Amino acid sequence: MTYAFATGTVHNTEARNCRDMQALDGLLTRSAIPAAVLEREAEAAFAMWQASANIRFNRIDDPAVAQILIGAQTQPRDVAFADVSYEPNGPGDVRTIRRSLVCLNPEKPWKVGFGGDVSVYDLRYALAHEIGHAIGLDHPGPSGQLMSFRYDEQFRELQPGDIAGAVMLYGPIGRTAANPPLLPSVAADLVAPHAAAHCGAEPRRTALTPRDSAC
Ligand SMILES: [Zn+2]
Repeated sequence: MTYAFATGTVHNTEARNCRDMQALDGLLTRSAIPAAVLEREAEAAFAMWQASANIRFNRIDDPAVAQILIGAQTQPRDVAFADVSYEPNGPGDVRTIRRSLVCLNPEKPWKVGFGGDVSVYDLRYALAHEIGHAIGLDHPGPSGQLMSFRYDEQFRELQPGDIAGAVMLYGPIGRTAANPPLLPSVAADLVAPHAAAHCGAEPRRTALTPRDSAC
């Protein structure tokens, strides 16, 4: 799969999340993170999934054709979201992903690495979590996996359940895939502290929340 960073404003008419995106420059400036560091952290986040299942990611420059587009929210909300669009037809509840969006809130504080302050979000962890949604995974539960919805800085790598999910969808490393992956329906987000009501308000949406959330 290809991925790119947004270089300007992007409107995604049919997206439920990440409908309007822009470049990440403002987020990086606010959090004093160099662009090269963002690129490195994103690469590391993709590499986690790439090392776990039969899926490969390549960065490209053109945001218009990238299968996963990463940018900043134009209308800041919660912490981060993913949006997944699908090919129109598929067998039963399983569909092929056409394109995914990952958008981060540029007004939230971001960092690189953990440090115990769960109100400042680690770029790599958040990107890895949203990439997991972008490739078809949902939340398995509140905690214990990187795809769990609580942001609690307990680990920074994929956990066994994350890997099992990726392998279920894409097969184990080394398998030759004759067909494109078929993925379940999922759309998810990463939300801010105090967003518990948001978590339960819309059953199809999912959230990553801090450890003290009631969600
Ligand atoms: Zn999530």
